[in-house]
Amino acid sequence: MRRKQQSSLATRTKTEILKIRNCRLWRNHVRVQQLIDFPWCQKCYERAKLTPAQEVDHIIPLEEGGEAFDPKNLKSLCKRCHVIKSAEEARNRAKKKNKLNRTITLHQH
Ligand SMILES: [Zn+2]
Repeated sequence: MRRKQQSSLATRTKTEILKIRNCRLWRNHVRVQQLIDFPWCQKCYERAKLTPAQEVDHIIPLEEGGEAFDPKNLKSLCKRCHVIKSAEEARNRAKKKNKLNRTITLHQH
């Protein structure tokens, strides 16, 4: 039997994440405030490039239970960096899943 995923951080479902992204607190306050505080893409900025930020990203992804409205968990990103980061995260999640499955198999004797 397959058990529900156990992790120290509560994982969120797609519906829960959509709810956060669509709520007024996020759209009209937290997200807007972050772009006012840091209007440049922070990834590009690290490479000494100034690109206007269009997206607000969660450093610990919402999928992994990261704080949704805590400015400490937010990063301003341009569209391009955001797409790259999201793809990386999806890859890492898939990798972690594989690793977990492997560990379980290894300990099954
Ligand atoms: Zn960027």
